[in-house]
Amino acid sequence: MGLPDFPPRFDTDLLRPFWDAVAEGDFRLPSCSICGRWQWYPFETVRCCHQNAGLEWKRVPKTGTVFTFASVERCFLPASTESIAPYVVALVELDDTPGPRIVTLLTNLNNHEPQIGMRVRLSPIPMLTHTLPAFEPENP
Ligand SMILES: [Zn+2]
Repeated sequence: MGLPDFPPRFDTDLLRPFWDAVAEGDFRLPSCSICGRWQWYPFETVRCCHQNAGLEWKRVPKTGTVFTFASVERCFLPASTESIAPYVVALVELDDTPGPRIVTLLTNLNNHEPQIGMRVRLSPIPMLTHTLPAFEPENP
């Protein structure tokens, strides 16, 4: 799939646990160390229990449902001289993980039309410098 291959712009130490987990085929999100509330995206300070709270990276399900999606018909990145369009970008809500929605790419759609509520599972795509947290239909 000729995706542009460059490091994520938000590849910081704060997000390192996320990218490391995805590279291992795992999925982890940060939560408050005191009350357990999900904090996606992570920030240096915890939003809910300000003092004495830190972030704990917890394993989350690698399955979920499509909250919404958009089909991209034309590439808009200047580095994308090789067109990969059309492709589908989606927001996915993970099972048993209320709150966070993951911005992702839907892959391996084959004969599936993307739909709101579609069941999906993590399908990481290894790139040169990182692994994309893409999702594919749960039942291909
Ligand atoms: Zn909290």
